[in-house]
Amino acid sequence: MQIRPTVAVLSPLLSLWRRQFHQYPELGFREHLTHNYVVERLQQWGWQTERVAKTGVVAVLAGSDPRVLAFRADMDALAMHELNPVPYRSQHPGVMHACGHDGHTAILLGLAKLLAESPPVGTVKLFFQPAEEGPGGALPMIEAGVLENPSPQAIVGLHLWNNLPLGTVGVKSGPMMATSDHFKVTITGRGGHGAMPHQTVDAVVVAAQVVVALQTIVSRNVNPLESAVVTVGQIHAGSAFNVIAPSAVLEGTVRCFTPELATQLPQRLEQVIAGVCQALGASYDLVYSRHYPTVLNHKLVTALVERCATEAQLQVVSEQTMGGEDMAFFLERVPGCYFFLGSANSAEGLDKPHHHPCFDFDEQALTLGVELFARCAEDFFAVPSC
Ligand SMILES: [Zn+2]
Ligand SMILES: [Zn+2]
Repeated sequence: MQIRPTVAVLSPLLSLWRRQFHQYPELGFREHLTHNYVVERLQQWGWQTERVAKTGVVAVLAGSDPRVLAFRADMDALAMHELNPVPYRSQHPGVMHACGHDGHTAILLGLAKLLAESPPVGTVKLFFQPAEEGPGGALPMIEAGVLENPSPQAIVGLHLWNNLPLGTVGVKSGPMMATSDHFKVTITGRGGHGAMPHQTVDAVVVAAQVVVALQTIVSRNVNPLESAVVTVGQIHAGSAFNVIAPSAVLEGTVRCFTPELATQLPQRLEQVIAGVCQALGASYDLVYSRHYPTVLNHKLVTALVERCATEAQLQVVSEQTMGGEDMAFFLERVPGCYFFLGSANSAEGLDKPHHHPCFDFDEQALTLGVELFARCAEDFFAVPSC
């Protein structure tokens, strides 16, 4: 199969599908329209489909060779209002495809059509995953058994990436995206009159000290050659200007790449909070939740993706981010590779960051995504094992 010309024919369809998803974006586990649109087409093309994890789809195209390769795309949108003046802008107020998952779904659908027309020797499984932006659809899909009967030997996924220009692929063997955890701490002091602070334990002052002290974890406890983030994203306290707040709630995220730091950072976080609260006479309640693990790329599958990107005449760059991704759950269980596909085109104004109300990308990236996936399938089944 001549991959490039075959994929080029799909280009108008890819845009059409992507714009359909873009116009009717749906939040996590509510991707009903998207689900139906995808399943209808997959079934038309002869894929065996199954509904999993509420709105997820697993599709199988069985080959004669026992090897199994999986591809994954996420389908969900974000709870935000689109400000793009494009004809295909969101028709669902307050919901927007501002991360490119509409493109991911279209790319995987494009691959499905291509492979149905030119089936590979081995078996291909496709995972159309709900709720990547939260609360996470990968784990429910895995728990529903998508990695069994048959089990894939490798998995590949991509994220359209406006931090890179069209024509580039950002990828890295080993840890590529960070562990992303969530914490919420409630600080309890003693409220009182704003003019009589000596009778109170001011939760706002304690919270402020906690925020400052937390900054020392990354700057003073983590080896400067390693990467970590501790961010407090929310503080809520107080009800009036002349009332000392009895409590304050802080929420934030902790990011890192290694299992050692993933253990140490929450311990240090609690020590710092406990120490500050004790010193200032307050108490605290900390809820620390593990969100997504590190996106860990397998050496051989990453080499396969890099080879395919080079064959497709794309520029391969090393890319790593403290962002999190629940593709990590698949990669914990199956050797695989997750990569960034450059989708920015500054000359056309298509370079807004992800999650921006005017986010959009160059749709030529859709064709490149299908081409890369198709090349991965061809390469994977061409070699004895991966
Ligand atoms: Zn996102
Ligand atoms: Zn995303």
